[in-house]
Amino acid sequence: MTVRLPARLDSRAPDFAARLAALLAYEPSQDEAIEQTVARIVADVRARGDEAVLEYTRRFDRIDAASVRALELPRDELRRALDSLAHADRDALQAAAERVRRYHEHQRAGSWSYVEEDGTRLGQRIGPLDRVGLYVPGGKAAYPSSVLMNALPARVAGVGELVMVVPTPDGVRNPMVLAAACVAEVDRVFTIGGAQAIAALAWGTDTVPAVDKIVGPGNAYVAEAKRRVFGTVGIDMIAGPSEILVVCDGSTDPDWIAMDLFSQAEHDEMAQAILLTPDAAFADRVAESIARLLPTLPRREIIERSLADRGAIVVVRSMEEACEIASSIAAEHVEISARDAARWVDRIRHAGAIFLGPWTSESIGDYCAGPNHVLPTMRTARFSSPLGVYDFQKRTSLIEASREGARTLGAIAATLARAEGLEAHARSARMRVDAPEDAAAAPTAAPAPDGSALALEPIRPEVVAMSGYKVLDSTGMIKLDAMENPYRLPPELRRALGERLAEVPINRYPVPGHAELAQAIRARFGVPHDAGLVLGNGSDELISMLAVATARAGAVHLAPQPSFVMYEMSARLAGSRFVGVPLRADFSLDVDAMLAAIAQHRPAVVWLAYPNNPTGNAFAPEAIEAVLAAAPGLVVVDEAYQPFAQDTWMPRLGEHDRLVVLRTVSKLGLAGLRLGYLAAAPRWTEQLEKVRPPYNVNALTDAAARFALEHLDVLDEQAARIRVGRDRLARRLRELPGIEVFPSSANFVLVRVADSERTERGLRSRGLLVKDVGRMHDLLRNCLRLTVGTEEENDLLFEALRETL
Ligand code: PMP
Repeated sequence: MTVRLPARLDSRAPDFAARLAALLAYEPSQDEAIEQTVARIVADVRARGDEAVLEYTRRFDRIDAASVRALELPRDELRRALDSLAHADRDALQAAAERVRRYHEHQRAGSWSYVEEDGTRLGQRIGPLDRVGLYVPGGKAAYPSSVLMNALPARVAGVGELVMVVPTPDGVRNPMVLAAACVAEVDRVFTIGGAQAIAALAWGTDTVPAVDKIVGPGNAYVAEAKRRVFGTVGIDMIAGPSEILVVCDGSTDPDWIAMDLFSQAEHDEMAQAILLTPDAAFADRVAESIARLLPTLPRREIIERSLADRGAIVVVRSMEEACEIASSIAAEHVEISARDAARWVDRIRHAGAIFLGPWTSESIGDYCAGPNHVLPTMRTARFSSPLGVYDFQKRTSLIEASREGARTLGAIAATLARAEGLEAHARSARMRVDAPEDAAAAPTAAPAPDGSALALEPIRPEVVAMSGYKVLDSTGMIKLDAMENPYRLPPELRRALGERLAEVPINRYPVPGHAELAQAIRARFGVPHDAGLVLGNGSDELISMLAVATARAGAVHLAPQPSFVMYEMSARLAGSRFVGVPLRADFSLDVDAMLAAIAQHRPAVVWLAYPNNPTGNAFAPEAIEAVLAAAPGLVVVDEAYQPFAQDTWMPRLGEHDRLVVLRTVSKLGLAGLRLGYLAAAPRWTEQLEKVRPPYNVNALTDAAARFALEHLDVLDEQAARIRVGRDRLARRLRELPGIEVFPSSANFVLVRVADSERTERGLRSRGLLVKDVGRMHDLLRNCLRLTVGTEEENDLLFEALRETL
């Protein structure tokens, strides 16, 4: 059998540009008959709702339902579909979903804000869409992978409700598609399709809820309907035929390349598969492979037509030229099948997805590698991107003018408004400019319970507006929420401690200076002899002292986010401004962003928790060095979790004049004592001593801490057990499905689950208290912070997690 081969082009030929352009030309067919039919259906569903949906479903899908409600599939039907699958199918679906979910979690972007010189806070809030509709085609193009690819990014974005529609002509349901809906946690599924389903989602009917955006592929009727409802709702894109472009240096097995070209050509006759290679002999070998392998494929007719009509094997002058041509084609899928693929990737400026190296077949990307398979086609990769979490989020600008900002900005706005002839704009701005200094616009304080707005007047509005640091009641619970050491001192030491404490003269104020305790801390914890030392009632108090000592008009405190909440709280309470700089998605320090923020805000203090709470990782030392080199003020490295980490900045105090090392004994097993210490150059500690409240470290703490430091080996051993327990817990959790475990150098482990609130509740009902940090920051969505407990507690936690997940 002779096979029609793809066209052979040569970039040196004079007519090359024209032939390539002819090959790429594609006009999505504009069919007037389809347009008219769809216009009618859409208008009809908009006007008559459920009744019209029922009629069209009867006509097109031959399903005679009494109501649209009867066309909705209950959740357990999805579950049953999943359970009915062969093990291999179910496992493959779940493994793919896990990879896709994990990839998209990296796309979550955080809200941000910063404060201008005049105190005006500006920001951008990123939030999920409320409700999204997902179209899934029925019949021959029913792809469970597209259910995952469309639903999972929406789920990761935090979309409130996901409504899927899928036609089931003659009542035939595809169990894989329903199982995929179950795995992707789709909320509602209606067995309706076509333009009528799109219209129902766009405007809502009595039964089908109106959504905010519609995504998913469909036939020409569905595409036309999406075009029509766009504007009332958002849509993803109108996709064209699939495309693959392979750039090969001639080093890959030609059979592999032939099959990669087939893998897109088999989608439909209009699909486009092109090979670019600088090696003419290799081009011949690929043509031979095509001729030999094509007849072995079930969809050979489609492939042959697609390759013969729209495919090409192009011999180019060089790999450089291949990349240049690839950029201009801007294909949906680009494979760089070359020995040093990474060398070429940056030269390909436009592509939906790029597959690097001979081992990466485009097909793994279609199903399970992780990135989305919904990609820009028809050269739209020049300006658009793969479907992602960002397609299910929207941004809101936030502006909060300070008194000063209202004055300066108001004057500018009023001038421009008058120039535009908009007097009300101008006056609205001027009213604030001209207001007397003490004009209390509306009271910012929340009304007091007695109804009088003035009852809270003496309290600063910032205080009224903030929520305090919360500690939950943990009576009777296994407490894994606060990073405490779960072990107590052994009984004989406890008795000895009791005797020691009995001798403390509690009728007297504590000894000034705590010289003995300070000496023990210096000796035991390696504080350099020329550094100053300040003791605090917990490191919390030292944070607050730093905030008080540095607060003045315009002072800024800066910290990566998410991080320990007290940095922001203390800074704000003291009256400074706080600027948070988002960490990268992998929780590493975004050095560029930090340096830019430092240059912009000139912060009095930069806070770096090392390791960081609540992410558990220690930032790269080079990143901290960069911050130290750039920061004009103090850089506090907060080593609260030092007993569980590998590294410390304490010995480097001499190298950096502005470095402050903050520590606590809380995590070491002495949280109840409330003792923290701070080491820095004496010129800083001398100033901090002045804001230290008198007698902040009480006499019992002083005595108990000295006692504990005499037995530091016991505490060190406990810390070592906690480290072992942490690593074992993390290792075991990594084997559970549905949980992502982040690396930790602290005495807690941060994990991400599908629904952190639900999991936290599940654990609480089993007597385990952990911290749900899912709402703290966008990067932490659905994260739980698990403090490492005793071996038994860790086992209980593991079992409880396994059950709740
Ligand atoms: N720094 C960090 C990073 C923390 O996580 C904590 C407590 N969770 C503290 C400081 C405060 O510790 P303490 O007040 O108990 O010394």
